[in-house]
Amino acid sequence: MANDLDEIRIRGLRIFAHHGVFPEETRLGQMFVVNATLYTSTRKGGLADALEDTISYADVCLFLTDYLQKNTWKLLEAAVEHTCRALLTRFPLLRGVELELEKPSAPIPLPFDSVSVCVKRSWHRCFVALGSNIGDTKGYLDGAVEALKADPCIRLKRVSTYLVTAPYGGVEQDDFLNGAVELETLYAPEELLDKLHTIEQAAKRERLIHWGPRTLDLDILFYDDLTQDDPDLTLPHPDMQNRDFVLRPMAELAPHFVHPVFHKTMAQLLKELQ
Ligand code: ADP
Ligand code: MG
Repeated sequence: MANDLDEIRIRGLRIFAHHGVFPEETRLGQMFVVNATLYTSTRKGGLADALEDTISYADVCLFLTDYLQKNTWKLLEAAVEHTCRALLTRFPLLRGVELELEKPSAPIPLPFDSVSVCVKRSWHRCFVALGSNIGDTKGYLDGAVEALKADPCIRLKRVSTYLVTAPYGGVEQDDFLNGAVELETLYAPEELLDKLHTIEQAAKRERLIHWGPRTLDLDILFYDDLTQDDPDLTLPHPDMQNRDFVLRPMAELAPHFVHPVFHKTMAQLLKELQ
């Protein structure tokens, strides 16, 4: 979580709700205690002394109470996971949250104070490359953008210009239409890749008439500053520094964004390639 963020803290919010593995727990209910740290910038609201420029902790407490009472989960893990997601999509100024859900009356036949599950979740900044070289290429890229926009766990920030580019890698095939998008997501890297694969599959199922190169290719270029070597998901995307059709949209979207391995900006990498 970005450490330049400020914190709004809620401690000991008591909520009577019905989460638990045992049927008595969901039937009778019990008291839960919520501790939350909200990561946001309080600076604007602080300087203006204006509630509308920050997150109202009262609204968050009411939201938490309502959400945890309207839903029922067996596990504290499930309750915190869903509640974090709901909070982060509901409050636009909220960048991240640490949420602890305590169960002081958990069914444990031993003396104890409380048990709890605590997780940290936040929005992550990502760049995704779009490519298509079969059929209605613009339609496929637009369709991918719409599918990303429709997902509540994704906030689409910007879409690059689409570029017509010659095929890369020596295979004889039609020109490509390429672009990139900047987005924020609540998904973990592997979950985002799954989402992109689902969108790719949908494009193929709907419109592919005969076998061909690619209706739609969606690659993760960057996920925050994360670096990983896993062949199923390599980050940043390997070989992007050699691809004009990736660097041009990236240099348009974020010329000053620094590659976490090469320590060069997108504008620099593009200039060196040209
Ligand atoms: P291409 O390399 O042309 O994008 P595919 O789209 O068929 O080919 O991707 C092949 C595999 O590459 C995917 O199944 C995926 O697991 C893996 N992969 C590794 N790193 C990434 C990444 N950063 N973004 C997308 N896919 C990736
Ligand atoms: Mg791909």
